[in-house]
Formats: sequence, structure tokens, C-alpha cells
Amino acid sequence: MTPARILLVYTGGTIGSVEDADSGALRPFEFEHLRARIPEIEALEVQLDFESLSPIDSSDMTAERWGEIARLLFHRRDRYEGFVVLHGTDTMAYTASALSFMLPQFGKPIVLTGSQLPIGVVRTDGKENLLTAIEIAGKWDSADPDRGPLVREVVVYFGDDLLRGNRSHKQDAEGFQALVSPNFPALAEVGVHVRFRRDLLLRPRGEAKLYEQLDTGVTVVHLIPSITPEAVAHQLAIPGLRAAILRTYGSGNAPRDPLFLGILSAAQERGIFLVNVTQCTVGSVDANRYVTGAGLTRIGVEPSLDITLEAAVTKLMVLAALHQDRESLRAAFKMDLAGEQTPADTIR
Ligand code: ASP
Repeated sequence: MTPARILLVYTGGTIGSVEDADSGALRPFEFEHLRARIPEIEALEVQLDFESLSPIDSSDMTAERWGEIARLLFHRRDRYEGFVVLHGTDTMAYTASALSFMLPQFGKPIVLTGSQLPIGVVRTDGKENLLTAIEIAGKWDSADPDRGPLVREVVVYFGDDLLRGNRSHKQDAEGFQALVSPNFPALAEVGVHVRFRRDLLLRPRGEAKLYEQLDTGVTVVHLIPSITPEAVAHQLAIPGLRAAILRTYGSGNAPRDPLFLGILSAAQERGIFLVNVTQCTVGSVDANRYVTGAGLTRIGVEPSLDITLEAAVTKLMVLAALHQDRESLRAAFKMDLAGEQTPADTIR
């Protein structure tokens, strides 16, 4: 079989640094010398090319930068069978989610990976993450008569876990299994063999598209006991705001204070789309379970099911740029675009 052509895109993050022998400080790794550092790459049956964006710590991520990454992948799409994006772990779940919405029907693997320890450190997790990410990106679908790639979506490979990108979440600042998928199973069991869950892998159809513009008029209102209606009103008065995510309690609950609900209703009247996303990492918003949640649904706050915060934020940014009024934004948001939410009738 011809080896798959894989493009490795370096965007920054810990994985790309090495310890300077003299000072011990971290400095950017020269990826041109990747093969010298990781000779195991030669054993992978892929043809590997490399491109770099100006490296950043992923805490400096912006919507413009997502546009840059998405454009690069879209314009290289026909030249490669798969892509590996090296990225800092801090906002990896946001970038993976954003790319899944910015590149609909991409139909090829975009595997994000990174590491907790720099690639030049002896105990680095970067080497294994990188090698397996490349292997996953280069995997052909043996059941496909047209020899397409097996993975056809944005995924995160980290610490032995292959996760749907828009289901991923960084949960650990130190452990090697830093990213998890709280509400959706892993897409593969990775051990001696990589055993893919074919039943879970997306099979997108249709022409690949690029949505490179995002509307960043999205905010997150995190509820805390005794939050004042004024504080909420203040946040909902941000100029240019298009959508706000209410981080509610439990299964989607919030205070019943009429003043608080009145502020939400007023924001909606100004055209702001409100979404109910729980503060819990695991589980789903079931806004009719308690009166405290039903109150939100009654005034028009959209219950978001089991979507992660990262996916909700980026989905809203992509969709707000495409839909100018609140109700068409709502209609688009309710749709499952890239496997980011479990349909309501199958949740329980
Ligand atoms: N702060 C780093 C980043 O997200 C951490 C990492 O790479 O893991 O870029």
C-alpha cells in the first residue's frame, strides 16, 4: 500500500520545546530536526511533511488564529490524507471544537496532540503522543473500496486516549491523561493495538467547506450562589454581544428570582441568544427536571443537552457569524453539526 501523506502542523505549546542544555530554560524545538530527535518516525509507514505557524502558548489562542489554522488545513486538504496538529494542551479542547465547526465535511483526519512535558525531556509524553497521532492520521479504512482514511473528523489523541475533538475537555493540569471526553466514549482503545470503535466514527458526506470568520460576541455567565442580578445585567450589556452561555447548576438549574429572570428576558428581547450549559462535567441539561431549570426554558433559554462548554462557545462563535438573528441562530445551534451533542431522545 502507498504510504499516506501526512502534514504535521506545529502551532506551539509545551510539546515543541526543549530544555536548553546550559540554562535549563525551555526554548522552541526545531521541528526540522524532528527525525534526528525521534528516529522512530522512520518506522511509521507514512510520508511526512511539516509546516509551522508562529508558535504560541495556547493560552494566547484567538479566533483569528483559529482562522489561520483552519485556512491552512483547508488549502492543504487535497494534498494530504491526514493532518496532525501540535498544540498546547491548555486550549486544545477549544481548538479541536472550533475546527470541527469551521471545517464541516472535511472528511479526513485532523488529529490534535501535544504533551505535558517538552519533547526534549527524558520522561516526555510528547514522543508517544506524536507517534501514535501520526499513526492514527495515516490509517486507511480497510473496509472502504476507495481507500479513504479511517478517521474522518477532528480528534484529540492524548495519553492513550483517542477522543472526538468537540467532546474533549482538559481536566488535569499535571497528569499524562490530561484530556477526557466526559459524555462520549473514546473513539479507540489504545494499547498494544489501536482498536477503533468504527461504530462511533463519523462518516461525513458532502463537499468540504471552510467557515473562517467567527463572531466573538459570545460570553459565559457562571452562576454562583448569591450572584446579583446587577452582575448578570452588566455581563449581558457587553456591546456587540450575540450569545451568552449560562453555566447553570446540576441538570440545568438557576435561581428563580424574578429580577434575575427579568434580566435574562430583557437580554433576549435585545436579540441575545441564551444557552443553558451545566457547570457539571458529566451529564446533560434536563431543564424540566426541577422548577429552577424549567423557569429558564420557559423564558426561552435554550437547554444545551450534554455539550461541553468548549464546544458550546466555539459552535456559537461559528454560527453567530453565519446567522444574523436570534431565532435562526437558535435553529442552527439545536442541530448536531459534528457529533458534539447526544440527541435528546437518546440521552436517557
Ligand atoms: N501552556 C501550554 C500551552 O497550552 C501548556 C501545554 O502545552 O501543555 O500552550
